[in-house]
Amino acid sequence: MHEMTKKRNELLAQKTIKGLESRNMTGYYAESKEEALKKALELIPNGASVTMGGAMSAHEIGLVDELKKGDYNFIDRDATEDKRAAMLMAYDADVFLSSANAMTDDGIIVNIDGNSNRVSAIAQGPKKVLFIVGMNKICPDVDAALKRARNIAAPINAQRFGLDTPCTKTGKCMDCKSPDTICCQFLITRFSRHKDRIHVILVNDDLGF
Ligand code: SF4
Repeated sequence: MHEMTKKRNELLAQKTIKGLESRNMTGYYAESKEEALKKALELIPNGASVTMGGAMSAHEIGLVDELKKGDYNFIDRDATEDKRAAMLMAYDADVFLSSANAMTDDGIIVNIDGNSNRVSAIAQGPKKVLFIVGMNKICPDVDAALKRARNIAAPINAQRFGLDTPCTKTGKCMDCKSPDTICCQFLITRFSRHKDRIHVILVNDDLGF
């Protein structure tokens, strides 16, 4: 990461962390993926049940590997035959890991979902929700965050899963109603009723998409 980018990201992260605090959520800044991993492990107690929904960023910092080999009850939906049971277990987990499709620099978190297990678990259920968010996801306002989620994150996800949606061909959102659409539910997290539930680690790196 270029030195000047680092300074900009640090300043932007400080603003975002203040915004999160004003919304009853907690933010942290990590200068590197390694620091982000260390912080995440501090926030997840030994023995905790942990699950996740679309959290590419958690993979990228090495957190998922650590959880699989550590002293945790990691509920791996991908390795479970009964996907519905695994999804339902998420609502009672100690920790739910997620990335964000976009965030505003004053602490609002934006996520779009197809199955909607991720957005529903962010909204309620798990005792703690831990977001790992690269600084590439930070946008100036909700409008820009929604545009990012619709025009960058969603098309890339649709392409990743080989879905038959217009954006897999055009690279941008065409506001489709395709049966394959992954844009079924939009969650804008602007405040947490429960103190100490939502934690966000902002990482000085490009994570996810
Ligand atoms: S609404 Fe349709 S076209 Fe737009 S990003 Fe979602 S899946 Fe793609």
